[in-house]
Amino acid sequence: MKKRVAVLGATGSIGKSSLDVISRNKDNFEIVLLSANSKNSELEQLKNQFPDAVCVLSGKENGKKNLLEAIGNVQPEITINGIAGSAGLEPSLAAIEAGSNLALANKETVVMAGKLVLSLAKKKNVKIIPVDSEHSAIFHLIEAHARRNGDTNDSSIISEIVLTASGGPFRKLTLKEMESVTANDALSHPTWKMGPKITIDSASMANKGLEIIEACSLFDMEPEKIKVAIHPQSVVHSLIRLCNGVFYAQLSKPDMRHPIHDALFWPKTEPLDLDILDFTSLTLEFEKPDLVRFPMLKLAWEAAELSSLYPCAYNAANEEAVAAFLQNKIGFTDIPKITAFVLEKDWAVNYNEKETVLKADTDARSEAVKIIKKMS
Ligand code: MG
Repeated sequence: MKKRVAVLGATGSIGKSSLDVISRNKDNFEIVLLSANSKNSELEQLKNQFPDAVCVLSGKENGKKNLLEAIGNVQPEITINGIAGSAGLEPSLAAIEAGSNLALANKETVVMAGKLVLSLAKKKNVKIIPVDSEHSAIFHLIEAHARRNGDTNDSSIISEIVLTASGGPFRKLTLKEMESVTANDALSHPTWKMGPKITIDSASMANKGLEIIEACSLFDMEPEKIKVAIHPQSVVHSLIRLCNGVFYAQLSKPDMRHPIHDALFWPKTEPLDLDILDFTSLTLEFEKPDLVRFPMLKLAWEAAELSSLYPCAYNAANEEAVAAFLQNKIGFTDIPKITAFVLEKDWAVNYNEKETVLKADTDARSEAVKIIKKMS
């Protein structure tokens, strides 16, 4: 029996890698749903390629509603969510509601509404399998090494999670130099080829900030147990340290098809024919991140510590700030200033439904827009 797969964000970089993995494994998977935000002509091409799949253009009018309905109607067994940004939250919730396992590349889903998403997944007996490369590494490391005490409590076995970070294109710049960098400078990212938002997030390390919060939620860990190590080669995808003092790491060439493949086949390990990493030709470097030059990291730990809807506000403020930076309205170093300003407000809300989360998201954005207007 083929596994029925939905690919959300099919024309983006995760979507394309997903279609490649699925095409290599046609006997195992069948695409039942494809969505794209705005690239209609690309979606039309996919329609010809996968005639049996329902195709939804989610960015047009009623598109979001159509997508949420389609997820419910199609009932995929696994949904790959490669949608960019906060728009990914509701489709994730719809997939879980429909009883679909979730191969999650959209980190905003758990950043914005971790408590809600994880409790719903538990209720629906749905597995969330991270596709973010670091979290995929951690997920599989935990499955391999930290479940030997049974399913009871991972966090008592795991002493530390180390997220690796490429450090982005501005790794070596001074704060002063960062003040004058442009969106174009940031968009020439060295290691991973990604969309503009995540590329800016990589340069400011907000991407790693979001991943700190994501890791706290997904692996039920306290923020101080999540560490970040700059690792420019992007070959070690992350590490865990267990209570016995031993570190385990996952290594491969940086290629998103690895985490996608592993999520689709979970819980099995199946062959994947990609270039093998020749680690004998490499020198691997690791260094501590600089929280003064990269304040988005520090703010992420603070938001994670405050929990509630602070992570949601962190994400909303950053999204607005990045959009303004891409339009040359603000400087690069204004991104953390805007985020810090928004986090000064009160986001301590006990939430149990998505409406509360979406309202906090909207409120945080209007706070961010207010300060952006003053700056630009
Ligand atoms: Mg990542």
